[in-house]
Amino acid sequence: MARIVKKFGGTSVADVEKIQNVARRIKKEVDAGNQVAVVVSAMAGVTNQLVKYVDDINRLHDAREYDVVVASGEQVTSGLTALALQKLGVPARSWLGWQLPVHTDGVHGKARIADIDSEEIIRRMEQGEVAVVAGFQGIGPDGRVTTLGRGGSDTSAVALAAAIKADRCDIHTDVDGVYTTDPRIVPKARKLNKITYEEMLELASLGAKVLQTRSVELAMKYNVRTQVVSSFTDEPGTLVVNEDEIVEKEIISGIAYSRDEAKITLTGVADRPGVAAGIFGPLADASINVDMIVQNVSLDGKTTDMTFTVGKTDLERALLTVEAKKKDLGYSQVTSDPKVVKVSVIGVGMRSHAGIAQTMFTALAEKGINIQVISTSEIKVSVLIAEEYLELAVRALHDAYGLSGE
Ligand code: ASP
Ligand code: MG
Repeated sequence: MARIVKKFGGTSVADVEKIQNVARRIKKEVDAGNQVAVVVSAMAGVTNQLVKYVDDINRLHDAREYDVVVASGEQVTSGLTALALQKLGVPARSWLGWQLPVHTDGVHGKARIADIDSEEIIRRMEQGEVAVVAGFQGIGPDGRVTTLGRGGSDTSAVALAAAIKADRCDIHTDVDGVYTTDPRIVPKARKLNKITYEEMLELASLGAKVLQTRSVELAMKYNVRTQVVSSFTDEPGTLVVNEDEIVEKEIISGIAYSRDEAKITLTGVADRPGVAAGIFGPLADASINVDMIVQNVSLDGKTTDMTFTVGKTDLERALLTVEAKKKDLGYSQVTSDPKVVKVSVIGVGMRSHAGIAQTMFTALAEKGINIQVISTSEIKVSVLIAEEYLELAVRALHDAYGLSGE
């Protein structure tokens, strides 16, 4: 007997028929003798619609009321899923975030889970009742409903799995696992049987929208065995686990990309202590995330060039922010380019193998693709290139590392 958390995303609970299908899958798990807690998202498209209602009334909305509205989608699906289970003869009860409760911090709209009271649902699960928990929501220190940021029901599921000490957390979604790259770009992309938390974290934060980044951080912190698996088929998915659980490590696990990049270059920046702090401090104060940064050596010993990237949607604000500081910083010119993308190769094997970056640079050079910015971490090499080369670059790299399935 195992204790399992199963999370179903929006496309899996998109209508009543699909919810009945989900209930049948849960029943199978119960019939196999397992204790099951379920976490559900809102029906596909519903959260977007709710966000739009709020924006239509006031773009500068009060975040507490935003949370009241956008959390409602999960209330509907948790109740319906409990009803569908009951109809199949499976004892089930729904739980909203405040009922468990799922305690969060007070950052409405983007709250973080502090802890989950799980005694009562564990008691009931031990008696054979399925707990159906509304994902994406909790209760803040102010006693009001909070939400966890878009895609947050993944995080609800992993946090619940950690709280009830589940043996596994299955994230059921419309893809059947984690692939070596986006199969829409490389049809021969291969499904991975296992991937490490660290690699998954890089993939998630690099724009592979399979899991919310925060959920992977939690899975890693609490060692939750997490499986990305289809809602619609019975095939095994991809297990996200500790590195030591993977016997045959691949050097490179995948190629990720992000279109959400924009490049800013400051030329003629004074080359003296405090300049970087002068530029990036105000950007941080404006909550603008800076990703890649390069600073050139100074040829004349007085000035240098600085290039960095921000999210596309932050470009305008970032430009306004550095332009406002022009006097203090004393740079001569600012230029920007939103038509760039970031392509990354990821793999824990990089730690112990030389030449990984070289393979990347050679493969790109052979296709005549110019690299604008490079950044690396222990298990990742990223390059910034012109957006029109995205598909070509991903295909070339997938081939260069021999990632295609047979
Ligand atoms: N329904 C929420 C959203 O669309 C949470 C989730 O689906 O994970 O962002
Ligand atoms: Mg999702």
